[in-house]
Amino acid sequence: MRSIAIANQKGGCGKTTTAVNLAAALAERGRRVLLVDLDPQGHATLACGHTPDRLTQTVYDVLRNRDVTLTQVMQPTPHEGLMLAPSNVLLSGLETDMAILPGREYVLRQALDRVREMFDDCLIDCSPSLNLLTLNALVAADEVIIPVQTHYYAIEGLRQLLDSVDVVTERFNHRLRIRGVLLTLFEPRARLSRDVWQQMKDFFGPLVFDTVIHRTIRLAEAPSAGRSCLAYDPRCRGAEEYRELAREICYETRTRTAQASLVHI
Ligand code: ADP
Ligand code: MG
Repeated sequence: MRSIAIANQKGGCGKTTTAVNLAAALAERGRRVLLVDLDPQGHATLACGHTPDRLTQTVYDVLRNRDVTLTQVMQPTPHEGLMLAPSNVLLSGLETDMAILPGREYVLRQALDRVREMFDDCLIDCSPSLNLLTLNALVAADEVIIPVQTHYYAIEGLRQLLDSVDVVTERFNHRLRIRGVLLTLFEPRARLSRDVWQQMKDFFGPLVFDTVIHRTIRLAEAPSAGRSCLAYDPRCRGAEEYRELAREICYETRTRTAQASLVHI
């Protein structure tokens, strides 16, 4: 199983949209996918058709109690081959619960180790902060995808994220690689969008995915229907773009992965 964390401590940059739709696109390609909702807001859970507050067991129970496995809390989704490890607001208490636990950075990784044979890919939707939950995601992951909104403040905070990736690579998880920077909410007519794209190309070079996710209404509508965009409107542009990203991830020939320390902002 390959694990990919979708991380950026900035809110609203398309992490959840990317996690849900990329997971759906990988499942559509026949891969067995686990989507872990690691945000107490439970947006990925909602987008997969589940009501966070009604769930009796979530990823919180898995991280809190080592006797509870991911298989016990997993829920089906509208996509064959895509399972969800849901979350709800209880997860926000975990930070305090785990603060004094030895090995608290490795809890998610250990939980994932137990389902490694069941899945080909695991996508982890991170919360908009660099807290212990996100640290757990980076420690558990092989790769990180950084969605970046093509927006004036896009570059802000990226240094901090790359520093965190560096710390994790050095101290906890030598395997961690940046898989790519994904430009989201792209508006081709806006000069700002094109400027940010250029800025990211200048900083990250080949680490920027060729696939760009445009701002489209279907991607914004799908979550309220409790579905990925691929299930909501399979032929729409957003669905096609996430399929394209899944293709890029599956058939990548160029060496795009690199250590964060190679990147200088
Ligand atoms: P994050 O998880 O980083 O906070 P989300 O994926 O939840 O970001 O996206 C923030 C908001 O923007 C959501 O309402 C989402 O539906 C919307 N959104 C995300 N990507 C797109 C897109 N490409 N086009 C239109 N709306 C989008
Ligand atoms: Mg989110």
